[in-house]
Amino acid sequence: MVYNRTMSEPADCIFCKIAKGEIPSSLIFEDDVCMAFMDIFPVKAGHCLLIPKKHYTNMFDVDPEVVAHLGRRLAELTRKVNAAFKPDGVLNIVANGVGAGQEVPHLHIHVIPRNEGDEFRFQFPKNYRDEMAPREDLDRLARLIGES
Ligand code: 5GP
Ligand code: ZN
Repeated sequence: MVYNRTMSEPADCIFCKIAKGEIPSSLIFEDDVCMAFMDIFPVKAGHCLLIPKKHYTNMFDVDPEVVAHLGRRLAELTRKVNAAFKPDGVLNIVANGVGAGQEVPHLHIHVIPRNEGDEFRFQFPKNYRDEMAPREDLDRLARLIGES
């Protein structure tokens, strides 16, 4: 199992406790592998989370079969949030590791309805489109990732 710095052990994992029903959650749906429930500190009304019931820290250690299942159910959850709130769009976010902003060390995918001008800001840095990256840099980085 992969742990990131400052991440807690499964024994005190809040999402494991939710998965086992040891602490309450507002459930949207569940099956043998995963569950979707409302985020307790929503950045927007409708903000919910999809988690595997088994403990995985994040994408670094999740079982490929489990993440495939999560992907199918994520599409379903995203469509449901879209149908329920009719927002301008729906954001899916996964933070992998403390450095990416992950606070709860149990894999979870945020599903957040978004509206133009809403207060929740998730945006790329200003002016990031000023300069297109040189093709040779993109090719080199693509190779680096592909071969890692
Ligand atoms: P992260 O920053 O790790 O990507 O997001 C963790 C999310 O879990 C946060 O949005 C936070 O509000 C949510 N959260 C933390 N504790 C609980 C809890 O006990 N119940 C629920 N439903 N959500 C939680
Ligand atoms: Zn856990």
